[in-house]
Amino acid sequence: RHAIKALPKVELHAHLHGSIKQQTLQRLLAERRPSDDRLADVSFDLFHIDSIRDLDKCFVYFELVYLLVEDEQTVQQITQEVLRDFYEDGVRYLELRTTPKANERTGLTKDSYLQTLERAIEWAKEALPDMQVYLLLSVNRARLTSAEDARKDVDELLDLAIKHRSLVVGVDICGNPAKGDLSLVLPLLRSRLYDDARYHHLKLTVHTAEMANTDTENAAILELNPQRLGHVCFLSDAHSELVAREGRAIELCPTSNKVAMDLTTMEDHHFGYYYKERRHPAISICTDDTGLFSTTLTDELQHLAQAFDLTLDDIWSLQQSAFKSSFAPPEARQRLGERFFFRPLSDVCG
Ligand code: 5GP
Repeated sequence: RHAIKALPKVELHAHLHGSIKQQTLQRLLAERRPSDDRLADVSFDLFHIDSIRDLDKCFVYFELVYLLVEDEQTVQQITQEVLRDFYEDGVRYLELRTTPKANERTGLTKDSYLQTLERAIEWAKEALPDMQVYLLLSVNRARLTSAEDARKDVDELLDLAIKHRSLVVGVDICGNPAKGDLSLVLPLLRSRLYDDARYHHLKLTVHTAEMANTDTENAAILELNPQRLGHVCFLSDAHSELVAREGRAIELCPTSNKVAMDLTTMEDHHFGYYYKERRHPAISICTDDTGLFSTTLTDELQHLAQAFDLTLDDIWSLQQSAFKSSFAPPEARQRLGERFFFRPLSDVCG
C-alpha cells in the first residue's frame, strides 16, 4: 500500500461534492443544524458507507450534502480540502468534475461558483506544488425533462466552460441514471461539441451503463463517440466487445461499481474482462466519490492489485495509460509527462 501511495497518480473521475470527507460533512452538519430547520431531522448516520447500499441512496446523500454547501466560502473550503486530500494521496494529475451550482439563499450563481473553484485551484498551485488540476463540467441528467430545459442547461454549461476555458477541459453527463432522458441531450452535444469550432477544445465523457437494461441508451452514447466512458458496468456483451475492440477509454471506479452492481467480491469486477482478457489499452482507475465511498485512489488500486494479482509495474502502467486518456491540453501533457508519466517506474520510485 505504501508503494502505491508513493506513486504519482492520475484521477480522471472524481465528483467534487462526492469527494468531501465524511468528517467534514459531520462538522458542517453539527455547526448548521441548530440554526437551520431543514437539518433538524437529518441523521449523522447518513454519512456512513454502511447505510449506502444502492445507487438510489447515493443520490439521497447528495441532496443532503447540498444543504450543507450553499455559499462561496464553504465551496472554497471544501474544494481546497478535496484538492489537499487527493494531493496527499499522491495524485498529481486531477480532473475534478462538478455540476455548476446556484443558490438563491446565499446569492451563489453558477459563474461565482466557478470563480470560487478557480480561486481554490489557484491556491493549490502554491500550496500543493506539482499537482495539475482541471475541471470537467457535468450535465446532471436528472434535470433533463424537456427539450427546452436540456438546451438551456447545455448552452449555459458550455458558455461557462468557454468563460473558464483555462481550467475547463471537458464536459460530463452524470446524475441518477434512472432519471432524465439522454436522447434530449446527445444530439445537442453532438452539434455543439463536434460541429461548432468554439467548443472544439472541449472533450466529452459520459456515465454509461450504470444500470442494467439500458442498451438503447448505451448504443446512442457509443454512437456519439465520446472520448471516454464512465463506469460501463452493465454493457451488453456486444457493446463490451465493441469498446474493447476499439480500445475506447474507460473510467472504472471499483468500490462505486461494486455497490452499483451489488458484487460480493472485487474479483467479479469487469476490470478482469478489460484488463486481463482483452488487454485493453485505455483503462483509468478512479474513485468516483472518495467521501461517499470512504475511499482513496490508493485504496482503489490496492483493491484491484489484490483481486487481480497486479504488480507495482502494472499499477504504474495503469497510471500511464490513464494519463494518455486525460483531457490535458498539449502543453500540460508534455510538461507532466516529462515530469512523471512518460518515465519508467524506476525513475518515479526514486
Ligand atoms: P457535484 O457535481 O455536485 O460536485 O458532485 C456530486 C454529483 O455528481 C451528484 O449529485 C451526481 O449528480 C453526480 N454523481 C456522483 N457520483 C455519481 C455516480 O456514481 N453516478 C452518477 N451517475 N452520478 C454521480
